[in-house]
Amino acid sequence: MSKGKGNDTSLSRRDFVKTGAVAGLGATGLGGLVSCAASGQEGGQAWDRTADFVIVGAGTAGLAGAVSALEHGASVIIVEANYDIGGHGILSGGRVNLGGGTSLQRTHGVEDSADHVFEDWINHESLQSRYSDRAMVRAFADENASTFEWLVENGVDFQDTLISSGGMVERQSRAFQWPVYEELITSYPTRHGSGLIRALEKKARENGAEILLLHKMTRLVREAPTSGRVLGIVAEHEGEEVRLRGTKGTLLATGGHTSNVHFRRMFDPRLTEEYQVAGEPYTPQAADGELAAMAIGASLWSTANQTMEAGSWISKTAHIGTRWGYGNLVWLPDSPMFDRTPGSGLSEVDWQNAIMVTDMGRRFYDETGRGHGFYNAALAYHGNPNKLDGGGPIWAIFDADAVARQGWEIGPPYVDPAGDWFFMADTIAELARSIRSPYQTAPMPPAALEETVARYNSFVDSGIDEDFGKPTPRNRIGRPPFYAAWSTPILHDSLTGLRTNPRAQVMDLNGEVIPGLYCAGETQGGFAQHGLARCIVFGRIAGREAALDGQMV
Ligand SMILES: Cc1cc2nc3c(=O)[nH]c(=O)nc-3n(C[C@H](O)[C@H](O)[C@H](O)COP(=O)(O)OP(=O)(O)OC[C@H]3O[C@@H](n4cnc5c(N)ncnc54)[C@H](O)[C@@H]3O)c2cc1C
Repeated sequence: MSKGKGNDTSLSRRDFVKTGAVAGLGATGLGGLVSCAASGQEGGQAWDRTADFVIVGAGTAGLAGAVSALEHGASVIIVEANYDIGGHGILSGGRVNLGGGTSLQRTHGVEDSADHVFEDWINHESLQSRYSDRAMVRAFADENASTFEWLVENGVDFQDTLISSGGMVERQSRAFQWPVYEELITSYPTRHGSGLIRALEKKARENGAEILLLHKMTRLVREAPTSGRVLGIVAEHEGEEVRLRGTKGTLLATGGHTSNVHFRRMFDPRLTEEYQVAGEPYTPQAADGELAAMAIGASLWSTANQTMEAGSWISKTAHIGTRWGYGNLVWLPDSPMFDRTPGSGLSEVDWQNAIMVTDMGRRFYDETGRGHGFYNAALAYHGNPNKLDGGGPIWAIFDADAVARQGWEIGPPYVDPAGDWFFMADTIAELARSIRSPYQTAPMPPAALEETVARYNSFVDSGIDEDFGKPTPRNRIGRPPFYAAWSTPILHDSLTGLRTNPRAQVMDLNGEVIPGLYCAGETQGGFAQHGLARCIVFGRIAGREAALDGQMV
């Protein structure tokens, strides 16, 4: 890429990651926060800071909630655990699935309505919508068009195109990328999420929001452990506790639970620790909001949505031989994330050049398949009792001819042959023996890998994959050196989370509202829709509801 090799800003951002200083667009210097005078006492608690609305997480839902609360007259403090704002939102493709009769749809002659949006999102044919909570979908549908216009009014610039998102009509639009190069987090040039997120950040700051970076919420404060109003939060900043009071409410917008192995395995026992997560290493979504709310009595909602793999919840890795291989996130040296990765991986894999094997050295599906082959992998584990509880590592196996055909460069910054995610050897048996990953709990049996490769080569000779039907297997794996590259599937969305009502108020195990507590984004359960749209709509609802609490007609 041509941009920014000598760019000081990207260097300073990298230094910043290392030093843990506070950065970001107009970031607030907070050295004095912990020592500042307590701004009040309530419920026996001393507070370091007070605002009408305290928001946890400066990502998609949190920033939407901030802009919304501010326009309704509330003061806002956002705490953000990361060194910069944005979460998954800023890494996203910026494709926003909002319709219902927007000005953009009208320009393109597309007729749509809230009812059409509703019908699409309760459609039984789609797993994303089949089991979604109808009251939540109705609220989403009713606020679709107005939320799109609201984004535009608040500075989000959308391309003049509509993209089909699989519903009755075209309704997905894409934000322009934020124009400032040094705001880029990934090297990949199409992270349009920055156009959405930086615009919301800009508006929130202009209207007075304070954003406290490197502040990680650790718990909620409620009047009594599981009853009464939620008063605010406790966050951790540089080893100190900071107590923040939200007089009108607290919004949990922490982005879901994909990175929390204990949490995700409650819904799906297969999702053991070796899975990759889209968005890491920029922001791990660790279920902090869910756990804090559950600790004060909140309920989860529609948890089966997670297990059913709706939408793109689990996807095939795109870059092999690295820990983080999500399609559109390429962590090259000009990315501030590069220091946190073992390399950007080998890209544009033609799966005719490689096979995938389990940690036991066995193939389990047609590698050219679009999906990740999870179900087939599970079947492949049949008879291996050690692996019935999880997917296990998956390795791409290929040879020197494949490297030549792909034009790959073996070595940094792409792969690290001295690390845990990429191995090479002169024979197949040596390759199996060389694999030493933290997740490869037992050695790969060399004989099994030899047998797998020999059998695959026989399919290349005959032109028929008798085991998994790979269409005309083309290339033998025969010329040393041989390679093994990390290729485990990637978890993308949280499709379950906290129970809320359509006003984004969190509810307890008895179905009662927990006063003062709101939730939006992937931390919110009930609606299995992938992506930005529901996060923005319910963030906006939460901000408005909290600001106008008691004044709604
Ligand atoms: C690579 C990628 C591409 C995507 N592309 C699209 C797309 O084109 N269209 C689409 O619709 N969706 C897309 N998505 C999904 C979309 O980005 C997410 O669904 C959405 O951003 C989630 O919003 P959120 O507010 O729930 O979480 P986030 O935007 O992730 O924000 C959560 C924030 O909370 C912070 N946080 C977490 N815990 C704490 C804590 N304890 N204290 C303080 N802060 C905390 C995190 O650091 C983070 O900044 C994509 C996702 C990824 C990863």
